[in-house]
Amino acid sequence: MTNHNGQEQATPLTALQPDGFAYLNGELFVEGLSVDKIADKVPTPFYCYSAATIRNAYTLLADKLKPSGASICFAVKANSNISVLRLLSGLGSGMDIVSGGELERALTAGVSPSKIVFSGVGKTRAEIARALGVGIHQINVESAAELDVIRDVARNFGCRAPIVLRVNPDVDARTHAKISTGKKGDKFGISIESITDLYASAAEAPELDLQGLAVHIGSQLLNLSPYQAAYGRLATVVKELRSNGLAVRRLDLGGGLGISYDFGLGPDVSEYADIITESLSGLRCELTVEPGRWLVGPAGILVTEVLYLKKTGDIVTAVVDAAMNDLIRPSLYGAVHPVLPLRSSDDRSTCAYQLAGPVCETSDVFGSYGNLPPLQSGARISFGCAGAYGASMASSYNSRDLVAEVLVDVDRFRLIRRRQTIDDLLGLETSTPWQTTQPNAEAANTVGMGRI
Ligand SMILES: *Cc1c(COP(=O)(O)O)cnc(C)c1O
Repeated sequence: MTNHNGQEQATPLTALQPDGFAYLNGELFVEGLSVDKIADKVPTPFYCYSAATIRNAYTLLADKLKPSGASICFAVKANSNISVLRLLSGLGSGMDIVSGGELERALTAGVSPSKIVFSGVGKTRAEIARALGVGIHQINVESAAELDVIRDVARNFGCRAPIVLRVNPDVDARTHAKISTGKKGDKFGISIESITDLYASAAEAPELDLQGLAVHIGSQLLNLSPYQAAYGRLATVVKELRSNGLAVRRLDLGGGLGISYDFGLGPDVSEYADIITESLSGLRCELTVEPGRWLVGPAGILVTEVLYLKKTGDIVTAVVDAAMNDLIRPSLYGAVHPVLPLRSSDDRSTCAYQLAGPVCETSDVFGSYGNLPPLQSGARISFGCAGAYGASMASSYNSRDLVAEVLVDVDRFRLIRRRQTIDDLLGLETSTPWQTTQPNAEAANTVGMGRI
């Protein structure tokens, strides 16, 4: 494409992705920067995020939600880098956390405790105490047993714990079995049959400031009708509680809005917002949604380099330097991430490859791709739509260090997490006093063992 000044312009990957990633003269750009140039400075593999893509997603969703009055709490587990949290917080987002660690991240990012909601099925006494201690906005209670512990901790503090009860509405989210959370038998929430009794008893407890209800039916929802079903049931419960003389002021509607993993059309956010308005705004409650994936998923790529090509049966496997410990979604959920080469060649021929990582697991495979440009050792490629549940789910399995994360904003980039070093990894471990030190243990320390 050429603009009116005769300059070469970036070709967007699709009309839906105009702000973040595009090819310019055959080179993949993140906003104003060539990814290849970043990779010259930051060793692969690394995650690279586009600030503009996150900003645009947040602004669009907030705008669509306006008629419903719903506010947004970003689900921190989707991407918990402090700089990403700070970016979203700066746009007005609150945070939905699921652990004490995420609470500390949100606080470190400067998020006010009055904008933090604490979800999760197994909060410990210490996590609850810390949350109440900092003055958290709301704790989403997942069971009667947890409610007892929250009461106990609040009594010790001499405060009233702000809570909502999470209902399991028994709705099939029609998503991957591993990420369904709102069906009877899933470990999440309080069954819809027992919610009225528990609500009534919680309303009487002097240590509890019972505000309302929460639901979260699953993740990566592409079909919106399960929301309609869940919110319909939620509205019925609210009416029932109110007819029993109980106050319901807040409704937390959960997250789960899916994205297209091939830059196609995802679910229609206008329709999502309409479902919220139509099902719930008549109840005059304070509404909150907790999207994670939808806000950050399309904004990130995982940049990697081809190490080796090898013939495996009838097909060629390209072994790349990223692996399932860096991005586990393909191995865990059978997810397929689009491949974006850092340089597209003029040669339009395509080849089929299986892309695999170096980890010693048969499942460490990113997938089989039918139409990639010819690859060779040293070629850099990236996996798209990796901004959610990528870096945040990474581990150091196979003693591979956690990779770096880079944030691009217009024409600048910043390392927002340095790569882990071998010292970070080994430094957590101590030797037993009853094992004798091997003479070569010292030698190992002096030889550079880090991944280059
Ligand atoms: C994981 C989670 C979310 C976010 O889910 P997404 O699919 O990333 O939108 C929201 N709320 C709760 C309670 C969660 O556990």
